[in-house]
Amino acid sequence: MKFRALASIVAALALCGAQAAAVEPDGTLPLNYRPAPDSDEGGLWMMADTLEKNMQASPLLVRDPALNAYVKGVMCKLVPDRCRTLRIYILDIPYFNAAMAPNGSMQIWTGLLLRTRNEAQLAFVLGHEISHYTLRHTIAEWRRARSTSGTMAFLTIATAGLAGLAYFAALDSLMSFSRDEERAADMHGAQIAADAGYDPTQDATLWREISAEETSRPKRDSEYSFTRTHPTTAERLTTMEKNAESLKTGRANWMVGQDACRRAMQPFRSQWLEEDLSLGNYEGSVTLLNTMIADEPASGELRYYLAEAYRRRNADGDSAKAIAAYREAVATGNAPPAVYRGLGIAEMKLGDKITARDAFEKYLAALPDASDRTMVEYYLTHL
Ligand SMILES: [Zn+2]
Repeated sequence: MKFRALASIVAALALCGAQAAAVEPDGTLPLNYRPAPDSDEGGLWMMADTLEKNMQASPLLVRDPALNAYVKGVMCKLVPDRCRTLRIYILDIPYFNAAMAPNGSMQIWTGLLLRTRNEAQLAFVLGHEISHYTLRHTIAEWRRARSTSGTMAFLTIATAGLAGLAYFAALDSLMSFSRDEERAADMHGAQIAADAGYDPTQDATLWREISAEETSRPKRDSEYSFTRTHPTTAERLTTMEKNAESLKTGRANWMVGQDACRRAMQPFRSQWLEEDLSLGNYEGSVTLLNTMIADEPASGELRYYLAEAYRRRNADGDSAKAIAAYREAVATGNAPPAVYRGLGIAEMKLGDKITARDAFEKYLAALPDASDRTMVEYYLTHL
């Protein structure tokens, strides 16, 4: 962006309380809303447009048509009128996060999709984000709280032309809302998701699980996480549950959508679990995997990753836990071949050479073209 344009945005943003275009009486946006370009909100939208272009060009953007169609489809069930105007960008970043820019472009990170275990949970997150947009929280927050230095920090980052994790995380940290706005987004978002038929109790269920996972991690990485800007306080959960109770009286047949959600995420799940483990926060991964296994006890894939979390954590007693979990994975009959490699390594570590040899042989038989075949053969010659 040229300096002249940058300067004019700073000037526009400095005009706190500038005249905004007309909005609906309840404060929500008309469908074709676009602020005047010379208003402070117009400047904010221009920055959001830059962010959106960077998302479109980012190597982190997940372009898979089926996954995008699924997530967008859930959004369209919530706000059919806005289906054509709101945009969703899925970014391959293994943290639980989503954010809505003021111009109607939403980013969703794959760590969030890994953790929303049914369509209703995804719908409540989307409803929350859509509400930040329709209630125009970004400009409200901006007018109330932003200093010129904050504006400059935002501009510097938003116009930096970067597109990696640090960029998105830095932007996210500058887009935070007040408690009242978060409460309003929770309430309004829950209402539109419930109006679309999604089971209101799934909202608090999701947040309880996210909270349990966060507290199980001794090494917090909350600078990248939605929970930094959306703390799962007892008050928030209680309000959500009370709200769900009153919403529930509206109808009898609520939609959860577990199968549809699982089908949409399945092609990516193993990659996302691998990325989650690569963060090295094994306690959180164990909590997450146990929650997922409670839903799908017959999944060899999930049991394999649970075993991997124990083996890679490598604390006292973890080899035995890993071996037990690998064996449970094998018993499902649908574990990935890598289950035998992991089992072999864990048994070798505990000194059971015969079992380790047997496992490595099974691995190579199941996956003759394994990329680590040379290493496994090396293990076999030393057993
Ligand atoms: Zn929020």
